[in-house]
Amino acid sequence: MTYAIPLWTPPALGVAGSANLFPVRRIFCVGRNYAEHQKEMGGDGREAPFFFAKSAHALVPGGGDVHYPLKTSNCHYETEMVVALGKGGRRIAAKDANGHVFGYGVGFDLTRRDLQQWGKDHGRPWDFGKDFDAAAPCSALAPAARIGHPAKGALWLKVNGKQRQRADLSEMIWSVPEQIAYLSEYYTLEPGDLIYSGTPAGVGPLQPGDELHAAVEGVAELKVRILQAL
Ligand code: MN
Repeated sequence: MTYAIPLWTPPALGVAGSANLFPVRRIFCVGRNYAEHQKEMGGDGREAPFFFAKSAHALVPGGGDVHYPLKTSNCHYETEMVVALGKGGRRIAAKDANGHVFGYGVGFDLTRRDLQQWGKDHGRPWDFGKDFDAAAPCSALAPAARIGHPAKGALWLKVNGKQRQRADLSEMIWSVPEQIAYLSEYYTLEPGDLIYSGTPAGVGPLQPGDELHAAVEGVAELKVRILQAL
């Protein structure tokens, strides 16, 4: 088999404590999954979860330098625990969902908030607001075989040394197993799929020169520096 243009390498994340890479197939992201963030975005209670997707090619594995995105003047950070599926399936029961998880990391669901808002206002898709070059920085993965399945623990973000987000994983409206169960009703999930599990309150704008440092304690850390737009 040959290809008409050169084949690319699949996007992949590092695995902590291993030389292996984790190949990434798709990126699903849950919206409004922490109560305080749901309120700051205009919500009022526990509604059914909703998801959007980013291209796996938007990954920035391990973080590092990220150019300020194109065509926005309001790019926001959203710090999230990232769930990596090692095993696929459909109609997965929440009680079985952890058995499908390979590991966990921490990532940024970078968002062109102005373009997302335009989409909301006009009943148009969110893709331009959520899925763009370098929209998904993500740490190396900590294997569940080593750390288990974190359902509580601190998630935080500092921008230029100042704390901007801090929450506990237990404050998720929909737990990780519930998210996997829900998604698997709509998609046949596959090994290599990632789920960005939602951001807590405190989202805000970024500027070139900003230094981001995020962690899910006991799981992973991630550092990103924002450079001038290309
Ligand atoms: Mn998000």
